[in-house]
Amino acid sequence: MNYQGSCHCGRVAFEVEGTIDSGLSCNCSMCGRKGSLLWFVPRDQMRLKTPEDAASTYLFNKHVIRHRFCPVCGIHPYGEGTDPKGNPIAAINLRCLEDIDLAAIPVHEYDGKSK
Ligand SMILES: [Zn+2]
Repeated sequence: MNYQGSCHCGRVAFEVEGTIDSGLSCNCSMCGRKGSLLWFVPRDQMRLKTPEDAASTYLFNKHVIRHRFCPVCGIHPYGEGTDPKGNPIAAINLRCLEDIDLAAIPVHEYDGKSK
């Protein structure tokens, strides 16, 4: 499936290919505040439709995840990082995708706070 995603104002837009099997709800200091529901895909399954620098970047902790957000509307549509093998991955915020039934997607709780 191909999904369209964006921030609220549209400055940051992308499309992503894949099957949404579940969403991850993390309680770390960042995700807990954002309330994001994450779906991890290989980075090459996501294609930005707006310039790379349309989104600002926030780093914290060990700086392993680049939290990308729109500097205009403040929404965080995705993050970027690498998996344990070093492959680039994207963490898509499912709440920023169009035409999906969020209530039908199983949510896994992740205790990022204790990591
Ligand atoms: Zn925006």
